[in-house]
Amino acid sequence: MSKKVGIPKALFYYQYIPLWRTFFEELGAEIVVSDYTSKRILDDGVKSCVDEACLPIKLFHGHVLNLKDRVDYLFIPRFTSVSKNEYICPKFGGLPDMVRHTFKGLPEIIDTEINLRKSAKNALEAALDIGSRFTGSRMAIKRAFHKAQKDYLRFRQMLKEGKLPEDFCGREKQRPLVRQAGNRMLNIAVIGHVYNLYDSYINMELLDKLRNNGVNIITIDMIDEEIINEKCSTLPKRMFWNFGRKAIGSVMHILDRDDIDGVIYLMSFGCGIDSFICDLAERKVRRESNIPFIVLTIDEHSGEAGMNTRIEAFLDMIRWRHKDENNISAYG
Ligand code: SF4
Repeated sequence: MSKKVGIPKALFYYQYIPLWRTFFEELGAEIVVSDYTSKRILDDGVKSCVDEACLPIKLFHGHVLNLKDRVDYLFIPRFTSVSKNEYICPKFGGLPDMVRHTFKGLPEIIDTEINLRKSAKNALEAALDIGSRFTGSRMAIKRAFHKAQKDYLRFRQMLKEGKLPEDFCGREKQRPLVRQAGNRMLNIAVIGHVYNLYDSYINMELLDKLRNNGVNIITIDMIDEEIINEKCSTLPKRMFWNFGRKAIGSVMHILDRDDIDGVIYLMSFGCGIDSFICDLAERKVRRESNIPFIVLTIDEHSGEAGMNTRIEAFLDMIRWRHKDENNISAYG
């Protein structure tokens, strides 16, 4: 009987699920993904996790609880770095230990370290370690990994074209983020971590609300990595966070374009990286352009009415500007 591998639908699920899914399935494992985020999952996460953690980490704990009794393994890799000479948030490195010390009676946790800071080749080493639980054949693991990488590249291309992660995962077809329409659509860049952007419960259906209000959405995933890198190479100091580089590089690219009507920064309460990057992004946009900029902060207490009001006011303000003020701020 095939072993069941549990993958919490949170954090890097939204970035790597096609890679993980293909890899494990090629090795004969059965993938079990936790349910879509709900009030119950969020409440469970908030109750079980330490108060000081950010919202996405708390939510991850809720997804673990949702999965833990129905799988043989929990897949919680210990992420240190996902790109050369860069790091990611240290909370990812401590995540397997946080989970292990929070819950009793967990299945075995696959917590192999993923550290690509020195070389992307380390990914294969990690794959060999993970795969050794399912087969003794290194060749079979390498084959599975190469197939998974191909699926991952197709997934990245799909995100670039404005599709959503769920389109790749077999759920009902989602509406693309960018669409053509007769009327003037607003082009709004939404900057934020993938796990805030693509989890529609936690962001209170932000993307759908924007689309329903006639907005084309531009995400970091839609911008070429080469463009992002070129922009970041002009910064006085190198950005050593993977997300920070992508976010700032995207904002700098947006400032060069003349078709962007607004920028939304989607921020998690309690996120150290967001508090720094958001401030940097806001200063750049305000100093170097007239593009309206808004910060939407989400936490476990966020109310949907407040979110709706802010989105509507932001879009109304942009449209009034286009219509009545010839694109000049009322404040000069
Ligand atoms: S980057 Fe921010 S939101 Fe993401 S896990 Fe770290 S602290 Fe939390």
